[in-house]
This record gives sequence, C-alpha cells and structure tokens, in this order.
Amino acid sequence: MARLHLFDLDGTLLHATTAPVEISRQLGREAETVALDRAIAEGRIGPPEYATQVYDLWADLTEAHVSAAFEAAPWLARIREVWAEIRGAGDYCAVVSLSPSFFVERLLGWGAHAAHGSRFPAVPFTEPVDPAGVLSAAAKVTVADRLCQEFGVSRADCVAYGDSMSDKDLFAAVPVSVAVNADGHLSGVATHSYRGRDLWDAYELVRTVQ
Ligand SMILES: [Mg+2]
Repeated sequence: MARLHLFDLDGTLLHATTAPVEISRQLGREAETVALDRAIAEGRIGPPEYATQVYDLWADLTEAHVSAAFEAAPWLARIREVWAEIRGAGDYCAVVSLSPSFFVERLLGWGAHAAHGSRFPAVPFTEPVDPAGVLSAAAKVTVADRLCQEFGVSRADCVAYGDSMSDKDLFAAVPVSVAVNADGHLSGVATHSYRGRDLWDAYELVRTVQ
C-alpha cells in the first residue's frame, strides 16, 4: 500500500523560522512579523487576523523578494533527496502549511506531489487577502483527507511531520507522526521525535514503520 507523507513548512522544513518572517526580512519588516508569529503561537490572534496583518506589511512585495526569501531561507538539509526517495518508492509527499500559497507552492519544484498553503492573491498584490482562504490547524486535516482521496490512500497510510500545536490535530488523525524540532507539547502526541537539521534523518525514523 502506498503511503502519503505530509510535511508542515514553518519550523519543520524551515529551521526555527517561518515563511512570513523570511519574506518580511526582504522588506526589512521581520521584527513586526516575529511579533505576529508570537501572537499566533500564544493564541492572541487567529490565522485570518495573522494573514491580514502580514498582508498589510507586504504592500511593496515583488516576485523577486519572494524568490530571494525562498533561496536564502534556512531549509533543512536533504529535503529534495527525501522526496525523491518517497517518489521512487511509489509513495506520495505533500506540504500542508498555514503560510501563503505563493511561497508554499514553490516546493512543487523540489518534488512535492502537492503543496497547499493559505490562499493569498498573486504577487504583487492588486487584490485583498480573503480570510476564507486562510488555513487553520483543523483545515490541515481537511486538506489531508482531500489529498488521501486524490492519491487513493487512507488516513491509516499517512505519516505527518510537524513542529507546533497547529500540527496536533493532524498528528491525532494519522497513525505515524514525527515531531521535528518541536516543543514538548507536540512531542508528547507524536510517535517519533527528531531534533536536528537534516530531513533524511527524520525520515529514517519512520521509513520502515508500517
Ligand atoms: Mg510549523
């Protein structure tokens, strides 16, 4: 039976940072964005409010800024190697993230079968961000279910990788999960735990787990 590997982005594929912070760094707005990350992590704001506020910081954002952010970001090592291995085994890999779609979807170029983020307008922005297109922790499970249908697998065939409480619902829905550089709360509900900067080593923990 094929398996579906579901990867979180911020704090998981990206080490100790988030896509919005890396994007904002290109515009000199990282301090405001780090503050927003803290606010959402502490539950003081929700995903729609977060999206609206980062959108407001990005009025001057161009494709060149997004490319520079993507290239300079602190990715874990061997992401492309892991996805090539998953593909070679006949399995599936997908990224599901609350971060903006225009950043997350770049990972299709690295070999992900699917990449889902919060729906933002195209860069440079000429339209507002629609709060209805912003993902939540619960929406990650909905997206995972849709991907299962698309790839002809079930939740029982899924492996999830994540770092924070926004991955908790998904970890509860699948039989195998890897907490990557996670805090104790998430590690407590994961079947496996990894600390470090090499995705291959995290993947090795669950490669042969049924
Ligand atoms: Mg994360």
